[in-house]
Amino acid sequence: TATPVPATSTGPSVTVLAGPTAVGKGTVSTFVRDHYPDVWLSVSATTRKPRPGEQEGVHYFFVDDDEFDRMVAAGDMLEWAVVHNSYRYGTPRQKVLDATAEGRKVLLEIDLQGARQVRESMPEAHFVFLAPPSWEELVSRLTGRGTETAEEQRRRLETAKIELAAESEFDDTVINDRVEAAARKLVELMGLDPRPGA
Ligand code: 5GP
Repeated sequence: TATPVPATSTGPSVTVLAGPTAVGKGTVSTFVRDHYPDVWLSVSATTRKPRPGEQEGVHYFFVDDDEFDRMVAAGDMLEWAVVHNSYRYGTPRQKVLDATAEGRKVLLEIDLQGARQVRESMPEAHFVFLAPPSWEELVSRLTGRGTETAEEQRRRLETAKIELAAESEFDDTVINDRVEAAARKLVELMGLDPRPGA
């Protein structure tokens, strides 16, 4: 288990990482989770089905539509959104509050709609935009991933174009050129020692 960050630690307690589709938010946040034990990566609830290798409670809480409805109605979600016109994703509020109360640094990896909601309800959070090195690189990452159909790729690129314009709403930008370097920069912005495992 991770050592709690001392109360004297500086920097924001909640950091929101958002950015366009296929920029590598998931890869960067997974790297942070695996190499920086002082950071607690929030686990979202989703109505999408698990992909091979994804574990309940580690990657997501996989819930059905009724359960998601219930969580929203109960006010359990810090934010939630329909992502890519398909499934619903949301951040369970209580776990974020518990982790910050324990003095942990919390990282939320969510989409732009969610980031805007957190901006409303938790304005003291720190907002970091993960940007691709270039538009060409983003296109190649999205098409090279091979997990979406051509139609889905087209739709996601449309969304990405709009989402790239949102960078100015954020406190900071990290360019995801290399995953490790991006993770290091992010952790530094969170006020932690950026040396992995330090
Ligand atoms: P995937 O289905 O590939 O795991 O994630 C799809 C998208 O959902 C990603 O852009 C990711 O940032 C977003 N996402 C994951 N969890 C949440 C969440 O709790 N809230 C919001 N608003 N978006 C999320």
